[in-house]
Amino acid sequence: MADHDVVVVGGGGAGLRAAVAIMETDPRLDVAVVSKVYPMRSHTVSAEGGAAAVIAADDSLDEHAYDTVSGSDWLCDQDAVEAFVREAPLELLQLEHWGCPWSRRPDGEIAVRAFGGMKKMRTWFAADKTGFHLLHTLFQTSLRYERITRYDEWYVTTLLVDENRVHGVVAVELASGLIEAITGRAVILCTGGCGRVFPFTTNGNIKTGDGMALAYRAGAPLKDMEFVQYHPTGLPFTGILITEAARAEGGWLLNKDGYRYLQDYDLGTPSPTPVLRSMELGPRDRLSQAFVHEQEKGNTVDTPYGPVVYLDLRHLGPEVIDAKLPFVRELCLQYERIDPVHDLIPVRPVQHYMMGGVHTDLDGATGLQGLYAAGEVACVSINGANRLGSNSLPELFVFGRRAGIAAAEFAAAQPTGPPRAVQTQAADERRRLERDLLTSRDGRERMADVRTDMQQTLEGCAGIFRDAGALLSGAAKLQELRERYAKAVVEDDSRAFNTELVAALELGFMLDVAETIVACAMRREESRGAHQRTDFPRRDDARFLAHSLVTRDPTGAPSVSYLPVTITRWPPGERVYGR
Ligand SMILES: Cc1cc2nc3c(=O)[nH]c(=O)nc-3n(C[C@H](O)[C@H](O)[C@H](O)COP(=O)(O)OP(=O)(O)OC[C@H]3O[C@@H](n4cnc5c(N)ncnc54)[C@H](O)[C@@H]3O)c2cc1C
Repeated sequence: MADHDVVVVGGGGAGLRAAVAIMETDPRLDVAVVSKVYPMRSHTVSAEGGAAAVIAADDSLDEHAYDTVSGSDWLCDQDAVEAFVREAPLELLQLEHWGCPWSRRPDGEIAVRAFGGMKKMRTWFAADKTGFHLLHTLFQTSLRYERITRYDEWYVTTLLVDENRVHGVVAVELASGLIEAITGRAVILCTGGCGRVFPFTTNGNIKTGDGMALAYRAGAPLKDMEFVQYHPTGLPFTGILITEAARAEGGWLLNKDGYRYLQDYDLGTPSPTPVLRSMELGPRDRLSQAFVHEQEKGNTVDTPYGPVVYLDLRHLGPEVIDAKLPFVRELCLQYERIDPVHDLIPVRPVQHYMMGGVHTDLDGATGLQGLYAAGEVACVSINGANRLGSNSLPELFVFGRRAGIAAAEFAAAQPTGPPRAVQTQAADERRRLERDLLTSRDGRERMADVRTDMQQTLEGCAGIFRDAGALLSGAAKLQELRERYAKAVVEDDSRAFNTELVAALELGFMLDVAETIVACAMRREESRGAHQRTDFPRRDDARFLAHSLVTRDPTGAPSVSYLPVTITRWPPGERVYGR
């Protein structure tokens, strides 16, 4: 058993920022960073478009806050948003001081670009490889601290909890199969999102909602799980993201007739140049919904990989594309064999981000003592019913830092050493893994089949549009899948790099998360942001201006309740774009 002061689970943007914040708060503490992949392989590395924070002279914190609040369809907590917009510029400057090469204007000032739903230019970027540069910067900064111990390629399977307090985790070392308790006075979950519960997603294979399920199983509530973001422009076969920056630099969306169809959806009028507040720079929920309407009208193009529309960058010319969107060109050439300088890019909406996650306060504290969460796994909430593009990266740093400080202070005030009960729990978990998973068994049910069926079920009932009938049958199907999962076998009983074992554990977590998404979507009888119910097409503030909270009841089923939204300065209003 290894013992530390704070255990950070996750080595992405949120996890590394939290680890550094702990060191800055109290250099005597020692920190474990446990990650199922080498930290630089975390999903943060693939972020392209940029990070929002007020820096331009014509911008203000209030405008960033208002765009975020209205973009969220008034479901975010406004105190969280106010803290977020205030601290975001400080965090991005801090990253600059640690070495992040932000793109700059010719006069040397930080360059900013437009982004969907942001009515001022405030998205900082490092070409279209922003996440790569940010994660490198944080990773190299974390290397300065000797008291950060990394557990790379260790997979966390459970939280150790005694009397409503978290004391650490149990993890499998993937290289050897060793199962160990890693204890700490506080644990911070920074495990990212859960896009892989859907079949078609921009998310890497590792985004399986582990942290959400770990918290849920331990008794901490999840919040707003019904709010799933679709990004309007994914490549049709792979789901690889074509960043919103492509539209921010002036890209157009065209239907099968070459028509800029977004002008028909109350998102503004066509203009030859990118215009803030309009059309292609509308928020993601609206753009993804418009795609479905175009499909219904027969205006999309059928391909072997589903219906598509086109993203047109040709008028930008090779200079702009190579300077501002080199990665977009590279991805199109490599994965579609097309060159955006000359060709239209086929795109369709693709699952991208989870607005919901582990319920936390402004300092990352969850419903369990000693357990904190930050980043995409958490729901503070600043994203409400719809996240604005480029708000997620600064969220990692603002709330990763806050969670790090809070966890450091909590840990420093606790008596050392985990209670004895924790050792028994760790031994139980070791036995469970050995018995259930590492012992070869006969059986015909395959994990991969259960996973595929779960993903299809989620897309069928909890995609861009939902209704009661589909959600009810989705919930029943998930029950069935849970039974099939219990009978499914891991054929590989080897210890070293048992990827089948990891896939089985991930599937167990995803089934939990999928159930919470469907349960929350079923209960919310209104349409708000990314949650569109065809049977309840209007927003209903009287009943649902509230966060959904979901916990596991004693039978293991999800139980949904509601929590008021915090409103400080912006009463609910109409979401207006393009005017
Ligand atoms: C393709 C793409 C492009 C994006 N572009 C942008 C953008 O331009 N701007 C923007 O604001 N947002 C963007 N986003 C969203 C944003 O990048 C993510 O929300 C954010 O990076 C998530 O960071 P994180 O630190 O929360 O988690 P991640 O970076 O996903 O890291 C999760 C970490 O948790 C670890 N982990 C998970 N489960 C376990 C376990 N069981 N045991 C041990 N370790 C575990 C993983 O190893 C990993 O280190 C993009 C997302 C995608 C998918």
